[in-house]
Amino acid sequence: MLETSAKLPFEMGVYALPERPASPKGRAWIEVNMENLRRNTAVLSALLPRGCQLMPAVKANAYGHGAVLVARELNRLGIRAFCVATAEEGAELRLGGVRGTILVLGYTPEERLCLVERCGLTQTVVDYQYAVLLNRRGRSIRVHIGIDTGMHRLGEPYGNLDQIRKMFLMENLKVGGVFTHLCAGDTDCQRDQAFTRRQGRAFDQVVRQLRESGIPCPKAHILSSYGLLNYPELGGDYARVGIALYGLLSTRQDTERCQVPLRPVLSVKARVASVKALHPGESAGYGLAFTADKEMRTAALSIGYADGLPRALSGGVGGVLIAGRFAPVIGRICMDQTLVDVTEIPAVQAGDVAVVIGESGDLSISACDLAGQTGTISNEILSRLGTRLERFAVRGEASFLLGKKL
Ligand SMILES: *Cc1c(COP(=O)(O)O)cnc(C)c1O
Repeated sequence: MLETSAKLPFEMGVYALPERPASPKGRAWIEVNMENLRRNTAVLSALLPRGCQLMPAVKANAYGHGAVLVARELNRLGIRAFCVATAEEGAELRLGGVRGTILVLGYTPEERLCLVERCGLTQTVVDYQYAVLLNRRGRSIRVHIGIDTGMHRLGEPYGNLDQIRKMFLMENLKVGGVFTHLCAGDTDCQRDQAFTRRQGRAFDQVVRQLRESGIPCPKAHILSSYGLLNYPELGGDYARVGIALYGLLSTRQDTERCQVPLRPVLSVKARVASVKALHPGESAGYGLAFTADKEMRTAALSIGYADGLPRALSGGVGGVLIAGRFAPVIGRICMDQTLVDVTEIPAVQAGDVAVVIGESGDLSISACDLAGQTGTISNEILSRLGTRLERFAVRGEASFLLGKKL
């Protein structure tokens, strides 16, 4: 299990290229712009409160960007701490050569705690009962204690100071820190602002009381992307920044209002597989959902909902960019293919590249646009980008596949 999940990402790119074709790019792929990642790291680092370091969130395959690719680059930029959602994600990073603290934010069942140990990860204590379980195993384990300050998801309630103290005293828990998570730091409405400040005070109170009772509490952290942007005064030793590092916020509106010059890191591209004429009265795609009312040309793109392109973009809700022009989706998006209208883009031919997320000529489509068109947030669009998409690092003109120059 560990073997496959850890090895696949490297082999994927390499075995697929037996004879090094003229273009390394396949049917559909992701380009990860390392220069933009570096800039985002720099602008976000400049916002950090005193004494606070970035702890990038590279869970869900680094929000679709490729966890090992991104984390290794961040290592090169001097980043020494990361957070992931699962122990398996942490193991993948370690086997990919990522150094530094790797905090598993989510629950790890007892049967998988061996991964945490073997890969030198740090496990979140999700509540007191879990601390007891970890301690009973009789093997020393590195942890950060989650504190619930009002989200009511994971963490020991902040008022249970006795239990929190006891966790520090458990002989098998090596407590490296405590943290909490803001759940309303993204809006500026009064209720949410008041709530967020209460979360900040509740967390401070825990940390202060621990330190006053002589318990050494090495690290304390509270900020994620919106926290760092909207409430930097809450401070802490780490900022667990995810979405902002990837160059956008959850919605287009937030991204536009954001004062920090973030740059999107990821582009998604797919090949034109076939171009066809569609005569008036003829239909296209599953369910004959689209019927031409004039002479048209359609292009079949080699990307579908199994690659993470939301099926809800069907029927003209979404589109792609080809040669700097917009081509709307027609009919229903398929699992592996998508039809677009290229009537107005006569030069299109098989093998051409369509931009699903990214720039072409003067136009661009962002993950926020896809999110807005499908009633979700950019985080979901990015994190659902599929494993069939190959991830390429782009540095200036040169292209790298999973960290290796081609
Ligand atoms: C995902 C996550 C983050 C990162 O959130 P962003 O909003 O993407 O910056 C930080 N902390 C916790 C606990 C998370 O689950």
